[in-house]
Amino acid sequence: MSRPVRRGLLALALLGMAAPAAFAQTFPTRPLSIVVPFAPGGPTDTVSRLVAEAMGRDLGQNVVVENVGGAGGTLGSNRVAQARPDGHTLLLHHIGMATTPTLYRRLPYDPVAAFEPIGLITEVPMSLIARPNFPANNLADVVAVMRQRREELNYANAGIGAASHLCGLLLMSRVDAPMTTVPFRGTGPAMQELLAGRVDLMCDQTTNTTEQIRGNSVRAYAVTTPQRLPTLPDLPTSAEAGLTGFEVSVWHGLYAPRNTPAPIIARLSQSLQTALRDPRLIARFAELGTAPVAQDQATPAAHRTFWLADIAKWRPLIQAAGQYAD
Ligand code: ASP
Repeated sequence: MSRPVRRGLLALALLGMAAPAAFAQTFPTRPLSIVVPFAPGGPTDTVSRLVAEAMGRDLGQNVVVENVGGAGGTLGSNRVAQARPDGHTLLLHHIGMATTPTLYRRLPYDPVAAFEPIGLITEVPMSLIARPNFPANNLADVVAVMRQRREELNYANAGIGAASHLCGLLLMSRVDAPMTTVPFRGTGPAMQELLAGRVDLMCDQTTNTTEQIRGNSVRAYAVTTPQRLPTLPDLPTSAEAGLTGFEVSVWHGLYAPRNTPAPIIARLSQSLQTALRDPRLIARFAELGTAPVAQDQATPAAHRTFWLADIAKWRPLIQAAGQYAD
C-alpha cells in the first residue's frame, strides 16, 4: 500500500473513531424544543417546564416547551415522530405512551418504533378532586352521588389514553357507576372548567392539584397512592377513604425521534440526569408531591425496559375491556 493511501486510510479510521464524540460535542447547535402532548397549565406541562429549564442550563441552549395537545397525547407524539432526528425536537410524555399503543389502532406513526427513549423522569401520584360546590364531603359521599346520579355527572379528562382517563375508568369500575366524560386537550384547561363549576369531577396528578387543594379552590377526596403525601397530609389515601384498588401513579419519560444518533441520545440522557439532580428542580418537584426517579432509571436502557413492560401490562387489560379510541 502506498504511503498516501495508508495515511488516507488511517485518517479515515481516526475520523470514524472520533466522529461520535465530536458529534456529541457540537450538539446542540441551536435551541431545543420539548413537545408536550397536552395543553399548557397541566401536569405534563409543569414537569416539562422544570426539566426544560434544568436541561437548558446543562446544555447551554434554551429548551423551549411546545404544547401540542389533543387526542389523548397522540397529536403531539405524532409531531415528534415526524420531526428531524437530530436531537433538537423531543417529546415529554407520560403513562399514555404505554396505553395508546393498544388503545389507538390507527395511529399515523408506529407508537413504539417511532421513538428512542432517553430516560425516565418521575412518577407522580394522582388525586380525586371536584368542583368547589360538589355535594360530597368525603369519598364515601362521592361514591353515593356517583351511584345515584351516574351519567348526569361530568368527569373531565385529557382524552382517551390520558392519565386522567385511566384514573376515571378505574374509579367508575371500582364504584360500578358510569359518568359522562368530557375530554379536554389537557387537564390544565379542564381544571379551569372545574374551578368554574362547569364539570363535576376529575382525577389529576398532584403536580396540577396540590396548590388548588391547599388553597381550597377545589374539593379533594383522596390520593391514589398506598401512603399519604407529606405535601397533603390531611388528604386520605383512597384505601383509607374506603375504596380499595383505586391506586394509580403516572410515570413520565423523555423521547427523541427514531434514528437520532446514539451519541446525541447519550448526551441528552446525561443532561436529563444532571437536570434531575438540580436542587431547584428537586425542590419544586417536592412541593408538587413528587421526586425525580433514581439516577439509573434516567437512562435509555432502563426507560425502554420499563416502557415495554408497561405496554405489555396494559395491553390485556385494554383488550379485555374492548374499548378502543378509534
Ligand atoms: N394530566 C393529564 C392527563 O390526564 C395530561 C396533562 O394535561 O398533563 O394525562
